[in-house]
Amino acid sequence: MSITLSIIYLISTITFVIGLKMLGHPETAKKGNFIAAVGMVLAIIGTIFLHDFTVSNINYILIGAALFVGSLIGWLIAMKVEMTKMPELVSLFNGFGGASAMLIGLVEYGNNSGDIAQTSTVIAAIIIGSITFSGSLVAFGKLNGSLKDIRLPKYNLINNVLFLGLVAFGAYIVMGGASSTLLIYALLFASLIYGLLFVFPIGGADMPVVISLLNSLTGIAAAITGVLYGNMVMLVGGILVGSAGLILTFVMCEGMNRSLSNVIFGAFGGDAVVAGATGKTGGTIKKTTASDSAVLLNYANKVVIVPGYGLAVAQAQHVIHELEQVLTEKGVDVSYAIHPVAGRMPGHMNVLLAESNVDYDKLIEMDDINPQFPNTDVVLVVGANDVVNPAAHNDPSSPIYGMPILDVENSKHIIVNKRTMNAGYAGIQNELFFNTKTSMLFGDAKSALTELVSELKNM
Ligand code: NDP
Repeated sequence: MSITLSIIYLISTITFVIGLKMLGHPETAKKGNFIAAVGMVLAIIGTIFLHDFTVSNINYILIGAALFVGSLIGWLIAMKVEMTKMPELVSLFNGFGGASAMLIGLVEYGNNSGDIAQTSTVIAAIIIGSITFSGSLVAFGKLNGSLKDIRLPKYNLINNVLFLGLVAFGAYIVMGGASSTLLIYALLFASLIYGLLFVFPIGGADMPVVISLLNSLTGIAAAITGVLYGNMVMLVGGILVGSAGLILTFVMCEGMNRSLSNVIFGAFGGDAVVAGATGKTGGTIKKTTASDSAVLLNYANKVVIVPGYGLAVAQAQHVIHELEQVLTEKGVDVSYAIHPVAGRMPGHMNVLLAESNVDYDKLIEMDDINPQFPNTDVVLVVGANDVVNPAAHNDPSSPIYGMPILDVENSKHIIVNKRTMNAGYAGIQNELFFNTKTSMLFGDAKSALTELVSELKNM
Protein backbone atom coordinates (compact mmCIF):
# COMPACT_ATOMS: atom_id res chain seq x y z
CA MET A 1 0.00 0.00 0.00
CA SER A 2 1.33 3.44 -0.89
CA ILE A 3 2.37 5.76 1.92
CA THR A 4 -0.20 8.34 0.74
CA LEU A 5 -3.01 5.79 1.05
CA SER A 6 -1.79 4.77 4.52
CA ILE A 7 -1.90 8.42 5.59
CA ILE A 8 -5.40 8.82 4.12
CA TYR A 9 -6.56 5.72 6.03
CA LEU A 10 -5.02 7.07 9.24
CA ILE A 11 -6.83 10.41 8.78
CA SER A 12 -10.12 8.58 8.07
CA THR A 13 -9.70 6.42 11.16
CA ILE A 14 -9.10 9.51 13.30
CA THR A 15 -12.23 11.19 11.87
CA PHE A 16 -14.28 8.06 12.75
CA VAL A 17 -13.07 8.16 16.35
CA ILE A 18 -13.64 11.91 16.69
CA GLY A 19 -17.02 11.63 14.94
CA LEU A 20 -18.16 8.83 17.25
CA LYS A 21 -17.06 10.78 20.32
CA MET A 22 -19.01 13.83 19.10
CA LEU A 23 -22.12 11.70 18.48
CA GLY A 24 -22.22 11.21 22.27
CA HIS A 25 -23.84 14.61 22.82
CA PRO A 26 -26.79 16.12 20.93
CA GLU A 27 -25.03 19.48 20.68
CA THR A 28 -22.05 18.07 18.76
CA ALA A 29 -23.72 15.08 17.07
CA LYS A 30 -24.46 16.76 13.74
CA LYS A 31 -20.89 17.99 13.34
CA GLY A 32 -19.52 14.59 14.44
CA ASN A 33 -21.61 12.83 11.81
CA PHE A 34 -20.31 15.22 9.16
CA ILE A 35 -16.65 14.77 10.18
CA ALA A 36 -16.94 10.97 10.05
CA ALA A 37 -18.71 11.20 6.67
CA VAL A 38 -15.84 13.30 5.28
CA GLY A 39 -13.42 10.63 6.54
CA MET A 40 -15.46 7.94 4.81
CA VAL A 41 -15.45 9.85 1.48
CA LEU A 42 -11.65 10.27 1.79
CA ALA A 43 -11.21 6.53 2.41
CA ILE A 44 -13.40 5.63 -0.59
CA ILE A 45 -11.64 8.02 -2.98
CA GLY A 46 -8.21 6.95 -1.71
CA THR A 47 -9.07 3.27 -2.14
CA ILE A 48 -10.38 3.72 -5.67
CA PHE A 49 -7.42 5.69 -6.96
CA LEU A 50 -4.45 4.64 -4.82
CA HIS A 51 -5.02 1.00 -3.92
CA ASP A 52 -2.78 -1.61 -5.59
CA PHE A 53 -5.47 -3.80 -7.03
CA THR A 54 -4.39 -7.30 -7.91
CA VAL A 55 -6.79 -7.33 -10.85
CA SER A 56 -5.79 -5.16 -13.80
CA ASN A 57 -9.19 -4.39 -15.30
CA ILE A 58 -10.57 -1.90 -12.76
CA ASN A 59 -13.78 -0.56 -14.24
CA TYR A 60 -13.95 3.02 -13.03
CA ILE A 61 -17.17 3.65 -14.90
CA LEU A 62 -18.93 0.80 -13.09
CA ILE A 63 -17.55 1.91 -9.71
CA GLY A 64 -18.56 5.52 -10.40
CA ALA A 65 -22.05 4.47 -11.51
CA ALA A 66 -22.52 2.31 -8.38
CA LEU A 67 -21.35 5.17 -6.16
CA PHE A 68 -23.65 7.62 -7.90
CA VAL A 69 -26.75 5.41 -7.77
CA GLY A 70 -26.11 4.40 -4.13
CA SER A 71 -25.48 7.97 -3.00
CA LEU A 72 -28.54 9.25 -4.86
CA ILE A 73 -30.83 6.62 -3.32
CA GLY A 74 -29.36 7.27 0.16
CA TRP A 75 -29.76 11.02 -0.24
CA LEU A 76 -33.36 10.77 -1.49
CA ILE A 77 -34.35 8.40 1.34
CA ALA A 78 -32.67 10.56 3.99
CA MET A 79 -34.35 13.72 2.68
CA LYS A 80 -37.79 12.13 2.53
CA VAL A 81 -37.87 10.01 5.69
CA GLU A 82 -40.14 11.19 8.51
CA MET A 83 -38.76 11.26 12.04
CA THR A 84 -41.20 8.54 13.07
CA LYS A 85 -39.85 6.26 10.33
CA MET A 86 -36.18 6.62 11.36
CA PRO A 87 -36.03 3.31 13.27
CA GLU A 88 -37.28 1.43 10.20
CA LEU A 89 -34.66 3.20 8.10
CA VAL A 90 -31.91 2.32 10.58
CA SER A 91 -33.03 -1.32 10.46
CA LEU A 92 -32.98 -1.30 6.67
CA PHE A 93 -29.49 0.23 6.60
CA ASN A 94 -28.31 -2.39 9.12
CA GLY A 95 -29.69 -5.02 6.77
CA PHE A 96 -27.84 -3.57 3.78
CA GLY A 97 -24.58 -3.61 5.77
CA GLY A 98 -25.17 -7.30 6.53
CA ALA A 99 -26.06 -8.04 2.92
CA SER A 100 -22.83 -6.52 1.63
CA ALA A 101 -20.74 -8.59 4.07
CA MET A 102 -22.70 -11.68 2.98
CA LEU A 103 -22.08 -10.96 -0.74
CA ILE A 104 -18.40 -10.17 -0.17
CA GLY A 105 -18.10 -13.49 1.68
CA LEU A 106 -19.69 -15.32 -1.26
CA VAL A 107 -17.44 -13.66 -3.85
CA GLU A 108 -14.30 -14.16 -1.80
CA TYR A 109 -15.10 -17.82 -1.14
CA GLY A 110 -14.53 -18.29 -4.89
CA ASN A 111 -11.13 -16.52 -4.67
CA ASN A 112 -10.13 -18.36 -1.55
CA SER A 113 -6.76 -20.10 -1.58
CA GLY A 114 -7.78 -22.64 1.05
CA ASP A 115 -5.87 -20.89 3.84
CA ILE A 116 -7.62 -21.63 7.17
CA ALA A 117 -7.53 -18.04 8.46
CA GLN A 118 -8.95 -16.73 5.19
CA THR A 119 -11.65 -19.39 4.94
CA SER A 120 -12.80 -18.79 8.51
CA THR A 121 -13.10 -15.05 7.81
CA VAL A 122 -15.12 -15.74 4.67
CA ILE A 123 -17.42 -18.15 6.50
CA ALA A 124 -17.87 -15.70 9.41
CA ALA A 125 -18.76 -12.93 6.90
CA ILE A 126 -21.37 -15.18 5.27
CA ILE A 127 -22.94 -16.32 8.57
CA ILE A 128 -22.97 -12.96 10.37
CA GLY A 129 -23.85 -10.98 7.24
CA SER A 130 -26.80 -13.25 6.41
CA ILE A 131 -28.17 -13.26 9.97
CA THR A 132 -27.92 -9.46 10.09
CA PHE A 133 -29.59 -9.12 6.68
CA SER A 134 -32.65 -11.32 7.25
CA GLY A 135 -32.97 -10.34 10.94
CA SER A 136 -32.95 -6.65 10.06
CA LEU A 137 -35.62 -7.12 7.42
CA VAL A 138 -37.89 -8.76 9.99
CA ALA A 139 -37.14 -5.94 12.46
CA PHE A 140 -38.03 -3.45 9.70
CA GLY A 141 -41.36 -5.24 9.08
CA LYS A 142 -42.17 -5.39 12.77
CA LEU A 143 -41.38 -1.75 13.36
CA ASN A 144 -43.64 -0.61 10.54
CA GLY A 145 -46.36 -2.97 11.76
CA SER A 146 -46.52 -5.19 8.66
CA LEU A 147 -45.11 -8.26 10.47
CA LYS A 148 -46.39 -9.74 13.69
CA ASP A 149 -44.57 -11.84 16.31
CA ILE A 150 -44.38 -15.49 15.32
CA ARG A 151 -43.41 -18.09 17.87
CA LEU A 152 -42.91 -21.70 16.94
CA PRO A 153 -43.40 -24.20 19.75
CA LYS A 154 -40.09 -24.47 21.66
CA TYR A 155 -38.68 -21.61 19.60
CA ASN A 156 -35.79 -21.03 22.01
CA LEU A 157 -34.64 -24.61 21.68
CA ILE A 158 -35.00 -24.56 17.87
CA ASN A 159 -33.08 -21.28 17.61
CA ASN A 160 -30.25 -22.40 19.85
CA VAL A 161 -29.88 -25.76 18.09
CA LEU A 162 -29.89 -24.03 14.71
CA PHE A 163 -27.28 -21.52 15.86
CA LEU A 164 -24.97 -24.25 17.18
CA GLY A 165 -25.58 -26.16 13.93
CA LEU A 166 -24.49 -23.12 11.92
CA VAL A 167 -21.28 -22.75 13.92
CA ALA A 168 -20.52 -26.48 13.55
CA PHE A 169 -21.30 -26.43 9.82
CA GLY A 170 -19.08 -23.37 9.33
CA ALA A 171 -16.24 -25.02 11.30
CA TYR A 172 -16.58 -28.18 9.19
CA ILE A 173 -16.15 -26.17 5.98
CA VAL A 174 -13.19 -24.25 7.44
CA MET A 175 -11.45 -27.48 8.45
CA GLY A 176 -11.58 -28.55 4.82
CA GLY A 177 -14.50 -30.93 5.27
CA ALA A 178 -16.19 -29.58 2.19
CA SER A 179 -15.45 -27.25 -0.64
CA SER A 180 -18.58 -27.52 -2.73
CA THR A 181 -20.27 -24.26 -3.67
CA LEU A 182 -23.60 -25.93 -3.00
CA LEU A 183 -22.68 -26.35 0.68
CA ILE A 184 -21.76 -22.66 0.89
CA TYR A 185 -25.20 -21.76 -0.43
CA ALA A 186 -26.72 -24.19 2.09
CA LEU A 187 -24.81 -22.39 4.88
CA LEU A 188 -25.99 -19.02 3.58
CA PHE A 189 -29.61 -20.21 3.37
CA ALA A 190 -29.51 -21.69 6.89
CA SER A 191 -28.03 -18.43 8.24
CA LEU A 192 -30.79 -16.42 6.56
CA ILE A 193 -33.39 -18.71 8.14
CA TYR A 194 -31.74 -18.31 11.55
CA GLY A 195 -31.92 -14.50 11.17
CA LEU A 196 -35.67 -14.77 10.57
CA LEU A 197 -36.28 -17.19 13.45
CA PHE A 198 -34.10 -15.08 15.74
CA VAL A 199 -36.12 -11.89 15.36
CA PHE A 200 -39.64 -13.20 14.63
CA PRO A 201 -40.47 -14.30 18.21
CA ILE A 202 -39.28 -11.10 19.85
CA GLY A 203 -42.24 -9.42 21.45
CA GLY A 204 -43.33 -5.83 21.79
CA ALA A 205 -41.20 -4.16 24.37
CA ASP A 206 -38.01 -6.13 23.66
CA MET A 207 -37.40 -4.81 20.14
CA PRO A 208 -34.96 -2.00 21.14
CA VAL A 209 -32.46 -4.59 22.36
CA VAL A 210 -32.64 -6.47 19.07
CA ILE A 211 -32.24 -3.34 16.98
CA SER A 212 -29.07 -2.31 18.78
CA LEU A 213 -27.76 -5.90 18.66
CA LEU A 214 -28.32 -6.04 14.88
CA ASN A 215 -26.59 -2.67 14.62
CA SER A 216 -23.62 -4.15 16.45
CA LEU A 217 -23.64 -7.23 14.18
CA THR A 218 -23.47 -4.97 11.12
CA GLY A 219 -20.27 -3.46 12.54
CA ILE A 220 -18.82 -6.90 13.23
CA ALA A 221 -19.65 -7.98 9.67
CA ALA A 222 -17.87 -4.88 8.31
CA ALA A 223 -14.85 -5.56 10.56
CA ILE A 224 -14.65 -9.13 9.24
CA THR A 225 -14.59 -7.89 5.64
CA GLY A 226 -11.84 -5.47 6.75
CA VAL A 227 -9.82 -8.50 7.95
CA LEU A 228 -10.57 -10.26 4.67
CA TYR A 229 -9.07 -7.46 2.61
CA GLY A 230 -6.39 -6.52 5.14
CA ASN A 231 -7.97 -3.06 5.12
CA MET A 232 -7.31 -1.23 8.39
CA VAL A 233 -9.84 1.54 7.91
CA MET A 234 -12.64 -0.94 7.23
CA LEU A 235 -11.56 -2.99 10.23
CA VAL A 236 -11.45 0.00 12.58
CA GLY A 237 -14.73 1.41 11.25
CA GLY A 238 -16.39 -1.98 11.75
CA ILE A 239 -14.98 -2.38 15.25
CA LEU A 240 -16.20 1.09 16.22
CA VAL A 241 -19.74 0.36 15.00
CA GLY A 242 -19.66 -3.13 16.53
CA SER A 243 -18.46 -1.99 19.95
CA ALA A 244 -20.64 1.14 20.04
CA GLY A 245 -23.61 -1.08 19.10
CA LEU A 246 -22.71 -3.53 21.84
CA ILE A 247 -22.49 -0.77 24.44
CA LEU A 248 -25.88 0.46 23.26
CA THR A 249 -27.18 -3.10 23.52
CA PHE A 250 -26.11 -3.18 27.18
CA VAL A 251 -27.78 0.18 27.81
CA MET A 252 -30.96 -1.05 26.12
CA CYS A 253 -30.79 -4.33 28.08
CA GLU A 254 -30.70 -2.29 31.25
CA GLY A 255 -33.59 -0.14 29.99
CA MET A 256 -35.62 -3.29 29.28
CA ASN A 257 -34.38 -5.18 32.33
CA ARG A 258 -33.03 -8.05 30.21
CA SER A 259 -29.65 -9.72 30.51
CA LEU A 260 -27.42 -10.07 27.45
CA SER A 261 -27.50 -13.88 27.78
CA ASN A 262 -31.29 -13.67 27.39
CA VAL A 263 -30.69 -11.71 24.24
CA ILE A 264 -28.07 -14.04 22.76
CA PHE A 265 -29.90 -17.24 23.59
CA GLY A 266 -33.22 -16.01 22.39
CA ALA A 267 -35.16 -15.97 25.64
CA PHE A 268 -36.58 -12.54 24.97
CA GLY A 269 -39.05 -11.80 27.67
CA GLY A 270 -39.67 -15.49 28.20
CA ASP A 271 -43.07 -16.97 27.61
CA ALA A 272 -44.75 -14.18 29.54
CA VAL A 273 -44.45 -11.89 26.55
CA VAL A 274 -47.70 -12.23 24.68
CA ALA A 275 -48.44 -9.66 22.03
CA GLY A 276 -51.89 -8.21 22.41
CA ALA A 277 -52.21 -9.09 26.09
CA THR A 278 -54.75 -6.83 27.67
CA GLY A 279 -53.13 -6.10 31.02
CA LYS A 280 -54.97 -5.86 34.33
CA THR A 281 -57.02 -2.70 34.42
CA GLY A 282 -60.42 -1.66 35.48
CA GLY A 283 -62.43 1.20 36.89
CA THR A 284 -63.30 4.45 35.24
CA ILE A 285 -61.25 7.09 33.57
CA LYS A 286 -61.53 10.83 34.12
CA LYS A 287 -61.62 12.99 30.99
CA THR A 288 -60.33 16.54 31.01
CA THR A 289 -60.28 19.51 28.64
CA ALA A 290 -57.54 21.80 27.41
CA SER A 291 -58.83 24.68 29.56
CA ASP A 292 -58.96 22.59 32.78
CA SER A 293 -55.49 21.21 32.05
CA ALA A 294 -54.20 24.75 31.43
CA VAL A 295 -55.49 25.84 34.87
CA LEU A 296 -53.73 22.92 36.55
CA LEU A 297 -50.46 23.64 34.74
CA ASN A 298 -50.69 27.40 35.29
CA TYR A 299 -50.83 27.06 39.07
CA ALA A 300 -48.17 24.37 39.34
CA ASN A 301 -44.69 25.04 40.71
CA LYS A 302 -43.08 22.04 39.09
CA VAL A 303 -44.16 20.33 35.87
CA VAL A 304 -42.54 17.31 34.24
CA ILE A 305 -43.30 16.49 30.60
CA VAL A 306 -43.05 12.84 29.55
CA PRO A 307 -42.66 12.57 25.78
CA GLY A 308 -43.35 9.26 24.00
CA TYR A 309 -43.84 7.77 20.59
CA GLY A 310 -47.15 9.63 20.04
CA LEU A 311 -45.32 12.97 20.30
CA ALA A 312 -43.11 11.87 17.40
CA VAL A 313 -46.08 10.61 15.36
CA ALA A 314 -47.91 13.89 15.81
CA GLN A 315 -44.73 15.91 15.08
CA ALA A 316 -45.57 17.89 18.20
CA GLN A 317 -41.97 18.59 19.24
CA HIS A 318 -42.17 22.29 18.36
CA VAL A 319 -45.44 22.94 20.13
CA ILE A 320 -44.29 21.08 23.26
CA HIS A 321 -41.26 23.38 23.34
CA GLU A 322 -43.60 26.36 23.03
CA LEU A 323 -45.69 25.02 25.92
CA GLU A 324 -42.53 24.65 27.99
CA GLN A 325 -41.51 28.26 27.20
CA VAL A 326 -44.96 29.66 28.07
CA LEU A 327 -44.94 27.82 31.41
CA THR A 328 -41.38 28.88 32.17
CA GLU A 329 -42.33 32.53 31.54
CA LYS A 330 -45.07 32.07 34.12
CA GLY A 331 -42.46 30.93 36.66
CA VAL A 332 -43.16 27.19 36.45
CA ASP A 333 -40.16 24.87 36.75
CA VAL A 334 -40.43 22.61 33.67
CA SER A 335 -38.32 19.61 32.68
CA TYR A 336 -38.63 16.56 30.42
CA ALA A 337 -38.39 12.97 31.68
CA ILE A 338 -36.48 10.82 29.17
CA HIS A 339 -36.98 7.05 29.29
CA PRO A 340 -34.20 5.11 27.50
CA VAL A 341 -36.66 3.26 25.25
CA ALA A 342 -39.33 5.91 24.76
CA GLY A 343 -40.27 6.11 21.09
CA ARG A 344 -39.10 3.59 18.55
CA MET A 345 -35.33 3.88 18.51
CA PRO A 346 -32.52 4.52 20.98
CA GLY A 347 -32.30 8.23 21.74
CA HIS A 348 -35.51 8.93 19.83
CA MET A 349 -36.82 11.56 22.26
CA ASN A 350 -33.45 13.32 22.52
CA VAL A 351 -33.23 13.62 18.74
CA LEU A 352 -36.82 14.79 18.45
CA LEU A 353 -36.54 17.45 21.15
CA ALA A 354 -33.14 18.60 19.87
CA GLU A 355 -34.87 19.29 16.55
CA SER A 356 -37.05 21.89 18.26
CA ASN A 357 -34.08 23.39 20.19
CA VAL A 358 -35.18 22.27 23.64
CA ASP A 359 -32.39 23.06 26.12
CA TYR A 360 -30.44 19.82 26.77
CA ASP A 361 -30.20 20.63 30.46
CA LYS A 362 -33.96 20.22 30.68
CA LEU A 363 -33.82 16.61 29.48
CA ILE A 364 -33.55 14.48 32.63
CA GLU A 365 -32.74 10.77 32.43
CA MET A 366 -35.03 8.25 34.11
CA ASP A 367 -32.84 7.47 37.14
CA ASP A 368 -32.44 11.17 37.95
CA ILE A 369 -36.07 12.21 37.43
CA ASN A 370 -37.75 9.30 39.27
CA PRO A 371 -36.90 10.59 42.78
CA GLN A 372 -38.32 14.01 41.75
CA PHE A 373 -41.87 12.80 40.98
CA PRO A 374 -43.19 12.98 44.59
CA ASN A 375 -42.35 16.72 44.50
CA THR A 376 -43.88 17.25 41.08
CA ASP A 377 -47.24 19.02 40.92
CA VAL A 378 -48.23 17.97 37.41
CA VAL A 379 -46.85 15.37 35.04
CA LEU A 380 -47.92 15.86 31.44
CA VAL A 381 -47.62 12.57 29.53
CA VAL A 382 -47.70 13.18 25.77
CA GLY A 383 -48.10 10.11 23.54
CA ALA A 384 -46.24 7.83 25.97
CA ASN A 385 -47.75 4.63 27.28
CA ASP A 386 -45.55 1.59 28.04
CA VAL A 387 -42.80 3.70 29.61
CA VAL A 388 -45.19 4.96 32.30
CA ASN A 389 -47.13 1.73 32.89
CA PRO A 390 -47.00 0.81 36.62
CA ALA A 391 -47.75 -2.82 35.67
CA ALA A 392 -43.98 -3.04 35.18
CA HIS A 393 -43.76 -2.86 39.00
CA ASN A 394 -47.07 -4.37 40.12
CA ASP A 395 -48.11 -7.15 37.76
CA PRO A 396 -45.81 -10.19 37.43
CA SER A 397 -48.01 -11.53 34.60
CA SER A 398 -47.48 -8.41 32.52
CA PRO A 399 -45.19 -8.65 29.48
CA ILE A 400 -43.37 -5.54 30.66
CA TYR A 401 -42.97 -6.73 34.26
CA GLY A 402 -39.49 -5.80 35.50
CA MET A 403 -38.90 -3.06 32.92
CA PRO A 404 -37.77 0.13 34.68
CA ILE A 405 -40.40 2.83 34.12
CA LEU A 406 -40.91 6.51 34.84
CA ASP A 407 -42.69 6.50 38.21
CA VAL A 408 -45.16 9.24 37.26
CA GLU A 409 -47.87 7.79 39.49
CA ASN A 410 -45.93 9.20 42.47
CA SER A 411 -46.61 12.78 41.39
CA LYS A 412 -49.56 14.87 42.61
CA HIS A 413 -51.50 15.13 39.30
CA ILE A 414 -51.11 13.38 35.99
CA ILE A 415 -52.46 14.57 32.65
CA VAL A 416 -52.23 12.00 29.86
CA ASN A 417 -52.60 13.11 26.26
CA LYS A 418 -53.35 10.43 23.66
CA ARG A 419 -56.05 9.94 21.04
CA THR A 420 -57.92 6.90 22.35
CA MET A 421 -57.73 4.21 25.03
CA ASN A 422 -55.72 2.01 22.62
CA ALA A 423 -52.64 0.20 23.88
CA GLY A 424 -49.03 1.19 23.16
CA TYR A 425 -46.27 -0.85 21.50
CA ALA A 426 -46.31 -3.72 23.99
CA GLY A 427 -50.02 -4.20 23.31
CA ILE A 428 -51.22 -3.87 26.90
CA GLN A 429 -53.61 -1.54 28.69
CA ASN A 430 -52.20 0.90 31.23
CA GLU A 431 -53.50 1.05 34.80
CA LEU A 432 -52.11 4.57 35.15
CA PHE A 433 -55.01 5.85 33.03
CA PHE A 434 -57.45 4.56 35.68
CA ASN A 435 -55.57 6.14 38.59
CA THR A 436 -57.70 8.66 40.52
CA LYS A 437 -54.93 11.26 40.12
CA THR A 438 -54.98 10.91 36.32
CA SER A 439 -56.97 13.01 33.85
CA MET A 440 -57.15 11.97 30.19
CA LEU A 441 -56.79 14.74 27.60
CA PHE A 442 -57.88 12.97 24.43
CA GLY A 443 -56.80 14.18 21.00
CA ASP A 444 -53.90 14.31 18.60
CA ALA A 445 -50.85 15.61 20.48
CA LYS A 446 -50.22 18.53 18.13
CA SER A 447 -53.76 19.90 18.22
CA ALA A 448 -54.27 19.19 21.94
CA LEU A 449 -51.02 20.95 22.85
CA THR A 450 -51.74 23.86 20.51
CA GLU A 451 -55.05 24.37 22.29
CA LEU A 452 -53.33 24.07 25.65
CA VAL A 453 -50.76 26.72 24.68
CA SER A 454 -53.44 29.15 23.53
CA GLU A 455 -55.44 28.61 26.76
CA LEU A 456 -52.30 29.29 28.80
CA LYS A 457 -51.46 32.41 26.83
CA ASN A 458 -54.95 33.78 27.58
CA MET A 459 -54.56 33.37 31.34
P1 NDP B 1 -46.01 3.48 23.27
O1 NDP B 1 -45.90 2.86 21.94
O2 NDP B 1 -46.12 2.60 24.45
O3 NDP B 1 -47.30 4.42 23.31
C1 NDP B 1 -47.46 5.45 22.39
C2 NDP B 1 -48.82 6.03 22.61
O4 NDP B 1 -48.90 7.18 21.79
C3 NDP B 1 -49.94 5.11 22.18
O5 NDP B 1 -50.60 4.56 23.28
C4 NDP B 1 -50.85 5.97 21.31
O6 NDP B 1 -52.18 5.97 21.84
C5 NDP B 1 -50.26 7.38 21.45
N1 NDP B 1 -50.30 8.12 20.20
C6 NDP B 1 -50.08 7.68 18.95
N2 NDP B 1 -50.25 8.67 18.06
C7 NDP B 1 -50.57 9.77 18.77
C8 NDP B 1 -50.86 11.10 18.42
N3 NDP B 1 -50.88 11.52 17.15
N4 NDP B 1 -51.16 11.99 19.40
C9 NDP B 1 -51.18 11.58 20.70
N5 NDP B 1 -50.92 10.32 21.08
C10 NDP B 1 -50.61 9.43 20.13
O7 NDP B 1 -44.82 4.53 23.39
P2 NDP B 1 -43.74 4.78 24.54
O8 NDP B 1 -42.87 5.84 23.98
O9 NDP B 1 -44.39 4.97 25.86
O10 NDP B 1 -42.98 3.41 24.64
C11 NDP B 1 -42.14 2.95 23.62
C12 NDP B 1 -42.44 1.49 23.34
O11 NDP B 1 -41.82 1.13 22.10
C13 NDP B 1 -41.86 0.57 24.39
O12 NDP B 1 -42.67 -0.55 24.53
C14 NDP B 1 -40.52 0.21 23.79
O13 NDP B 1 -39.98 -0.97 24.29
C15 NDP B 1 -40.90 0.08 22.32
N6 NDP B 1 -39.77 0.25 21.41
C16 NDP B 1 -38.78 1.16 21.66
C17 NDP B 1 -37.68 1.24 20.82
C18 NDP B 1 -36.53 2.15 21.18
O14 NDP B 1 -35.41 1.86 20.80
N7 NDP B 1 -36.81 3.25 21.87
C19 NDP B 1 -37.59 0.41 19.58
C20 NDP B 1 -38.73 -0.44 19.37
C21 NDP B 1 -39.78 -0.50 20.26
P3 NDP B 1 -53.42 6.33 20.89
O15 NDP B 1 -53.33 5.42 19.71
O16 NDP B 1 -54.60 6.11 21.75
O17 NDP B 1 -53.26 7.76 20.50
